[in-house]
Amino acid sequence: MNVHDSERMSGMLEGMGLTAVQDGPADVIVINTCAVRENAGTKLYGNLGMLRALKLERPHTQIAVGGCLAQKDQGEIIKRAPWVDVVFGTHNISALPVLLERARIEKESQIEMAEALEVFPSHLPSKRDHAYSAWVSISVGCNNTCTFCIVPALRGKEKDRRMGEILEEIEVLVADGVSEVTLLGQNVNSYGVEFGDKEAFGKLLRACGDIAGLERVRFFSPHPKEFSTDVLHAMRDTHNVMPSLHMPLQSGSDAVLKAMRRSYRQERYLSIIEDARSLIPNAAITTDIIVGFPGETESDFEETLKVVKAARFSTAYTYQYSKRPGTPAATMDNQIPQEVVTERFNRLVELGNAIAWEENKKQIGQRVEVLVADDQGKKDGETQRISGRARDNRLVHVAKPEGLVRPGDFVTAEVTYAAPFHLIADANVTVRHTLAGDKASNAAHDNGLLTIKTRIGQGV
Ligand code: SF4
Repeated sequence: MNVHDSERMSGMLEGMGLTAVQDGPADVIVINTCAVRENAGTKLYGNLGMLRALKLERPHTQIAVGGCLAQKDQGEIIKRAPWVDVVFGTHNISALPVLLERARIEKESQIEMAEALEVFPSHLPSKRDHAYSAWVSISVGCNNTCTFCIVPALRGKEKDRRMGEILEEIEVLVADGVSEVTLLGQNVNSYGVEFGDKEAFGKLLRACGDIAGLERVRFFSPHPKEFSTDVLHAMRDTHNVMPSLHMPLQSGSDAVLKAMRRSYRQERYLSIIEDARSLIPNAAITTDIIVGFPGETESDFEETLKVVKAARFSTAYTYQYSKRPGTPAATMDNQIPQEVVTERFNRLVELGNAIAWEENKKQIGQRVEVLVADDQGKKDGETQRISGRARDNRLVHVAKPEGLVRPGDFVTAEVTYAAPFHLIADANVTVRHTLAGDKASNAAHDNGLLTIKTRIGQGV
């Protein structure tokens, strides 16, 4: 969500006549913060400290701070770093150009926050990181109250975008060369709650299947609470919805899930995984797990290991619990000693990696279609490999075929080797060129010109 917001900010800055600087000093620096990250505050104030010298040297440089931490700290940022020009929140990223302009004219720092979303981020211009792939917001905010999470406090209640608008945006993106979209929301499968349609997410996935030229649809992230088999049916029945499912577990223990205020229990979670396996047998299932939540006992932790063994995740993103100020869990009195958290974390990572490797080995001999992200790749001995994601979202390094291959093209190859976190596919490689690939070549050419323009236009 934060990366998508950054693309919107880039798009608005371009709309102001600014261009990204590849090297050399910038006239405007925007720091988009994420409070979910550990030590976000320390990193922000550390970066702002370093920027002070730059501001003294080039006083016209403007510094803006946005995102969750800005929403949380608000006036505190200017108090601690008075050389910051603009502070804006998560609900009003559309105000960034006006605030920069006002700060420049009035020669005074501007702080502006909104209590609720003013403009749905997808209505703002965007500068995508990749020509072939795009994020599409379907909702923002969250109606849940997980005790470890700061998101509801900073992003507010869930707001759903209307389906027609979402589909229209995707059609425009596809016409622009995008072949893969990722539908984004804090809790995608509760999409529709605001306008009273519990099956809206399944309908949206099916409608994506009718968009000609859209080759890959992904979504991030669902929640086990409201996840319905209707969504699995929509995934199975819609040709361009990819067989990959990220289903956050957080803990396998019912007691810990209760303390986390996650309303599903182990049995319900495993039944979702079982349904997913039977309806979409080739799906790669990934998860998030927090280790060492306050009150977690050894037997609670063993319940998590039990679920990991049963679910056989292709990747488990594991996190050591650490306090996030402002969340209910931060003040719980049964915090777990760090050495216990670390020891459990290591055991979980070892198990998760071993399972991921076993699951990856099952791919050897299969043909996989890879959407190329990195056309330069790395040399391994005599073999140059390019990289991208398979349909199930596994990372694949493919032997570079003869001829032109660009980011956004598809290569299909046979998997010849499996590592815990990636596959190697060196045999029988074929290439399919795409409009996105053509655009990637053009963009690389354009970027050279844009850099020159930036230098000429410095200070304007
Ligand atoms: S579902 Fe829970 S973890 Fe996810 S954003 Fe909402 S409150 Fe945070």
